[in-house]
Amino acid sequence: MEETENDFGISRKLCEWYDAHKRDLPWRHSRDPYIIWISEIILQQTRVAQGLGYFNRFVERFPDIRSLAEASEDEVLKYWQGLGYYSRARNLHAAARFMAEHYDARFPQTYPEVRALKGIGDYTAAAIVSFAWNLPYAVVDGNVYRVLARFFGIDTPIDTGAGKKYFAELAQRLLPPKRAGLHNQAIMELGALQCVPQAPACTACPLADACVAYANQSVSLFPVKQGRTKTRDRFFHYFYIIYNGKTFLQKRTKNDIWKGLYEFPLIETDEACEWTELSHTNEFDRLFSGISKRMLRSVSPLYKHVLSHQTLYTTFYQLEINEAGGLPHDFDQVPIEGLDQYAVPRLIQKYLDSLVRDTK
Ligand code: SF4
Repeated sequence: MEETENDFGISRKLCEWYDAHKRDLPWRHSRDPYIIWISEIILQQTRVAQGLGYFNRFVERFPDIRSLAEASEDEVLKYWQGLGYYSRARNLHAAARFMAEHYDARFPQTYPEVRALKGIGDYTAAAIVSFAWNLPYAVVDGNVYRVLARFFGIDTPIDTGAGKKYFAELAQRLLPPKRAGLHNQAIMELGALQCVPQAPACTACPLADACVAYANQSVSLFPVKQGRTKTRDRFFHYFYIIYNGKTFLQKRTKNDIWKGLYEFPLIETDEACEWTELSHTNEFDRLFSGISKRMLRSVSPLYKHVLSHQTLYTTFYQLEINEAGGLPHDFDQVPIEGLDQYAVPRLIQKYLDSLVRDTK
């Protein structure tokens, strides 16, 4: 596809908006590919607010490729502890060792060589080479898919091979080679701050006057995904909270499984995780930061529960707390003997039945 003046007009608007609105983040003060790499890998799995502390601690202890390569894997994992997705930390470490051995502890400076490093995919390679050296490789992450799909009104599903190819070519065509790094950061930032998944701020958007989805009032329909028939794995963590002979339930109201049924307070994670990781998540804080004392009484075995298009891997945590006022207000306080009056999913019933069996 050929670049046109019109395509670059979009880029100019994006870059002007970015200059005025970008967040001041530590890795944006650096063009060191190592710093960019670490920040990108951390941000793939966590929100900026939570990732900042991890980033600062990590680069303070491992300020460059050499120091990371010379560390033990145990120490690298320790600095990663709580972030989850530990394979990413192991890949960082392995790639640092590879660069120490083959590139004199420096980043190689071509896209194919960067892309070939362990744990670095298309997106991360494009981010590193464009942010660090302004090489003309377009980034395509979830934010970019969303902005492009809405702006151009593209209904090709983004989760198909054809969709991925189409969006990658479009993003590349829109990229002005002279300001590749700036453009890439600008479109991602627009997706992160303004063209967000729910209720985007269209009236204040620099692209609003030419945005197809906005003009058609169809913003919520984009981006299109096909993957409804695929089976997906979900990881549920339920809290059977005990307080003064009572427990806590909430009603499921979203368009998801079990709408209308009752369940214990729930945290869902993207992959399996242990109690130590779970208790350091933002969601856990949201639930329990107002409780001064809590005691973990038991952790259930993992329940595997198969539904038509998804498999749930669930753990129940029995927690005793000393006060109830600090819990979020969206839970019903329910006497434990009265639990059987509430309609709960079969999975939860199975767990409750197991407790009864254990006490007999
Ligand atoms: S006008 Fe709205 S939908 Fe279109 S790009 Fe801007 S924020 Fe996204």
